[in-house]
Amino acid sequence: MRIAMIGTGYVGLVSGVCFSDFGHDVVCVDKDPDKIAMLERGEVPIYEPGLDDLMAKNVRDGRLSFTGDLKAAVAGADAVFIAVGTPTRRGDGHADLTYVYAAAEEIADALTGYTVVVTKSTVPLGTNRQVKRVIRKTNPDAEFDVASNPEFLREGAAIDDFMRPDRVVVGLHSDRAKDVMDDIYRPLSLRDFPVVYTDLESAEMIKYAANAFLATKITFINEIAALCERTGADVKDVAKGMGMDGRIGDKFLHAGPGYGGSCFPKDTSALARMGQEHAVPMQITETVIKVNDEIKRRMIDKVMDLCDGSVNGKTVAVLGVTFKPNTDDMRDAPALTIVPALVGGGAKVRAVDPQGHREAEHLLPGVHWVEDAYKAAHNADVVVILTEWNEFRALDLKRMARKMNTARMADLRNVYSPKDAKRAGFQAYVSIGRKDMR
Ligand code: NAD
Repeated sequence: MRIAMIGTGYVGLVSGVCFSDFGHDVVCVDKDPDKIAMLERGEVPIYEPGLDDLMAKNVRDGRLSFTGDLKAAVAGADAVFIAVGTPTRRGDGHADLTYVYAAAEEIADALTGYTVVVTKSTVPLGTNRQVKRVIRKTNPDAEFDVASNPEFLREGAAIDDFMRPDRVVVGLHSDRAKDVMDDIYRPLSLRDFPVVYTDLESAEMIKYAANAFLATKITFINEIAALCERTGADVKDVAKGMGMDGRIGDKFLHAGPGYGGSCFPKDTSALARMGQEHAVPMQITETVIKVNDEIKRRMIDKVMDLCDGSVNGKTVAVLGVTFKPNTDDMRDAPALTIVPALVGGGAKVRAVDPQGHREAEHLLPGVHWVEDAYKAAHNADVVVILTEWNEFRALDLKRMARKMNTARMADLRNVYSPKDAKRAGFQAYVSIGRKDMR
């Protein structure tokens, strides 16, 4: 199969590289010339574990290439995937589909022979039909079908998720397009990973419903955590006891500082917006959005409280700023709410992040960046763990406490326990959904 992948971001690049590893011929396209120049030099513009090696291997084997020339990439392709961004539209919470429709127009002009145009981007209901109309209008002679193929990979584990998915979802209305999609995903079905075929609308809805459900599960345990804090229960034990119930499952039950990232905030917002437009309010999702915002703000109070009500003039060491470990993605990270509030409150913030530093630097003005957790803690008044990178999971807490001006920790990922903190000589330790140690 010859595949053109439009957009080489977190989804497009991983999908393109993995499809080439399946044995397909893949050309990845981006309109950002700097990205293409990097990729052509063999450099990966994002941080995703294992991506550099897999990319190099498939480039070497001649199955993977990069270009800014969409027309050349699309001509002769069996399938063209649209993997461009669908961020929240300014002002109304809807998904901004400008990039999707612009890509569809460009693709339409470049089609030669029968092609399946596949939307991999997360798009609201009706978008694929609109993509079809855009292509038909731009190029009335084009021979094509559209398919919806939402992506479920997680940043930080993207290659494994793509290669070993729980399922692949494909929405389409044509047997000819199904044959093409069957060929593309055959390597997975041979290994028994199921492909769910459905119609366009259901495929679009599956993606939003899945993300909103996961966001709800996280927010549910975060709200339970807040009640645990008030009542003396321990949310880690509560989550463990809940998660062992096969109907519930133990995933996405880790209490933390609120969900963030490139998908949950924008997709819950877009789903709520879709509900309003169709006069079927998504009340649960709307509440989840509101509660998640409150949870993020509650984290600021937690740190302030730990510092006797004010961080003014205090030095705060922030460990991790990305929305989760193993990515450099800063989109909607809780750090973007919490860190500016600390800087605004007069704190001197020293931060460290294994991969997020470059991306975060321009988003978090006033922050002083250091190379490791101990340098961050030197003479600090409080340490805040915001992202549970491996680098922060086995810290020498005694060494850290000794370096600090006042040894206090806000562990917003429940990496350690009050007992660990006390044993290491911390004078105060707060976490999520558990008793404080002061
Ligand atoms: P991204 O912003 O990292 O990448 C999008 C890329 O598309 C950019 O490099 C941009 O330059 C390029 N682009 C935009 N218009 C173009 C055009 N006309 N021609 C060529 N290139 C163009 O976005 P992402 O995180 O990869 O997300 C892409 C889509 O996948 C979104 O809809 C997102 O919701 C969805 N998704 C993302 C994830 C994730 O973890 N990031 C997971 C599942 C689904």
